[in-house]
Amino acid sequence: MIPRRWSHLQSRATGAFLGLAVGDALGATVEFMTPNEIRARYGVHREMTGGGWLHLAPGRVTDDTTMSLALGQAILCERRIDPLVIGRAFDDWMRSKPVDIGNTVRRGILHFRRTGTPVAPPDEQDAGNGSCMRVLPVILACHGGHEADLERAVLHQGRVTHHNPLAEAGSLCMARLVRMALDGIEIPAMLAGPVADLIADHPIFRFRARKEITHPSGFIAETLRAVFQGFFDSDSFEDCLIRVVNLGGDADTTGAIAGMLAGAYHGVEAIPSRWLNALYPPIAEACVQQALGLVAAGPFPVSTTELPRTTPRSPGALPLP
Ligand code: MN
Ligand code: MN
Repeated sequence: MIPRRWSHLQSRATGAFLGLAVGDALGATVEFMTPNEIRARYGVHREMTGGGWLHLAPGRVTDDTTMSLALGQAILCERRIDPLVIGRAFDDWMRSKPVDIGNTVRRGILHFRRTGTPVAPPDEQDAGNGSCMRVLPVILACHGGHEADLERAVLHQGRVTHHNPLAEAGSLCMARLVRMALDGIEIPAMLAGPVADLIADHPIFRFRARKEITHPSGFIAETLRAVFQGFFDSDSFEDCLIRVVNLGGDADTTGAIAGMLAGAYHGVEAIPSRWLNALYPPIAEACVQQALGLVAAGPFPVSTTELPRTTPRSPGALPLP
């Protein structure tokens, strides 16, 4: 399935998309378990066995991957990054009866369905990881373009469901990191740049000199602390993923986010072939096609539709149904 002789960029882009799917499929088996429960059941969880609370067949993925594919497909079809296009893509995705869906995602898509507005009402409380887990297609679609366009694209795709400052800061940091990885930039520059900036603005993302996170929830800060510990403190794709998913908790999503970053950084050749071969083939194929298509045809134009403010407004100012 994986042809040799790809360019560095193609290997990294494909590694990111397949890494996302592999992390999702691997983590879904142990989603919502504690590290102790995982140890008792699997020792170290390191194979694509399927199962988990969703009773998945081996190699099947969840919302993290299928929402990303819905987003990538919409960008490839419409040749632009636009909030309405993205809102419709997520709406169609929800109608396809996905195996799982987060509460904030459901609420945001229902809001779009009701109001036609592809921007969820600002929410100070719900800093979930659901917008970060599906951010990859806009990173690939903006590759080679201006960083300001990438930032706008990240906010457009996120705000359909997650309109929260921490969720946005986390997604923007991840977008910058994956973009650097695609460009072959090394870890010290990642730590000194996007990660240091994120922690300076929001110390809750500090991941060192802090007890190792276990059982990370869907809260973006816990998710990214787990991902950072796994990625920055390991030196291979496989070690990173095994470390992250064995923390349990929201393991399909920590796995997916760690997988996109580690896959972009280490390239597709670094993903163990036993994991690639176990992935459900139509999903693996779609990940490869989209990764190659998005970087080949991009950078795509990003809508300049004015972005609403992040801070909550009075309810009267919101577009109510
Ligand atoms: Mn999921
Ligand atoms: Mn999850």
